[in-house]
Amino acid sequence: MCEAHPTGEIPPRSGVAFTLDRGQRLTVIDPCGEQVADLLAYNRHDIGEVLSSGRTLDYASRIYLTTGDPLYSNRSNVLLTIVADTVGRHDFLLTPCSKDTFRIIYGDTDPHRGCFGNLAAALKPYGIGPDQIPVAFNCFMNVPIDAATGAITVAPPLSRAGDHITFEAQQDLVIGLTACSALQSNNGRFKPIHYRIDPATAAL
Ligand SMILES: [Zn+2]
Repeated sequence: MCEAHPTGEIPPRSGVAFTLDRGQRLTVIDPCGEQVADLLAYNRHDIGEVLSSGRTLDYASRIYLTTGDPLYSNRSNVLLTIVADTVGRHDFLLTPCSKDTFRIIYGDTDPHRGCFGNLAAALKPYGIGPDQIPVAFNCFMNVPIDAATGAITVAPPLSRAGDHITFEAQQDLVIGLTACSALQSNNGRFKPIHYRIDPATAAL
């Protein structure tokens, strides 16, 4: 059973972009369970500043991020802070799935454009091009690491219907957000993603 519709719904295998003001909170909800959402954030006043996996993981000294963790930009400014998280397992290592992901990993001959193509299309009206799309923060994506070899596995998300993660904007942002299109990331089923925007003072 999927959770009821909140304010925003992203249909399966698609994506959206919207603005988020400093202080506002974005809640990303997995309405059906086991569905990944790729999240990108850009400084709205200078889109050359973008979410940076490398800097964020470096400063956190961890690869699994949760409540209280800041997400840094390529210029080492905090763009978002995680303020609530009912799952505790997300990925910030792997790039958005794309035509090439499906060609190289899945062997598809007529591949879907994936999160990458969906993000590129959604972000285009904000003047953001495909080459400005970095590693996304992959909400609910479950990527266990073998500590000895470094081998990575894409496992089913730990999220259940209604689980969510909430971010507070530390700058005025452009956000890109998807319902991920990769079979393996979503335990073989494509589902929607819901999201909600609240003022900073709203109860979580
Ligand atoms: Zn994806």
